[in-house]
Amino acid sequence: MRIEARNLPSEKVTCSSCMACCCKLEVFLLTDTGVPARYIDIDEWGHSTMHRSDDGWCVALDRNTMLCTIYEQRPLVCREFEEGSDDCLAERAAGLT
Ligand code: SF4
Ligand code: SF4
Repeated sequence: MRIEARNLPSEKVTCSSCMACCCKLEVFLLTDTGVPARYIDIDEWGHSTMHRSDDGWCVALDRNTMLCTIYEQRPLVCREFEEGSDDCLAERAAGLT
C-alpha cells in the first residue's frame, strides 16, 4: 500500500539556508568559551549576555555573511541551539516572514 506524505517541509532546515534567525535572541553566557570581552554585556542582575545592537542582532554576527565571527568561541547556548528543533523552526518562522 502506498501512503502519501503530507505537510512535509519543502526544503531541509539548515543554518546555511537561514538568515541567522536565532542570533537575535538573548544569549546568556553560562560557561567561559572564550567570548571576547568587548562582545559581553552585564545585565542589571549581574548575568553575562552577548551584546546586541540596537536592532537586536548579536554583535558577533557578520552582517554581510550572516555568519558568526566567533564560531570557535561561541557561547554554550549557541552550540546547543539545535538546527531543526522546535525553537529553531519558531525563530525561522518569525524571522523569515
Ligand atoms: S539554528 Fe535554526 S534559526 Fe538558528 S541559524 Fe540555524 S536554522 Fe537558523
Ligand atoms: S555568538 Fe555567534 S552564534 Fe551566538 S548569537 Fe552571536 S552570532 Fe549567533
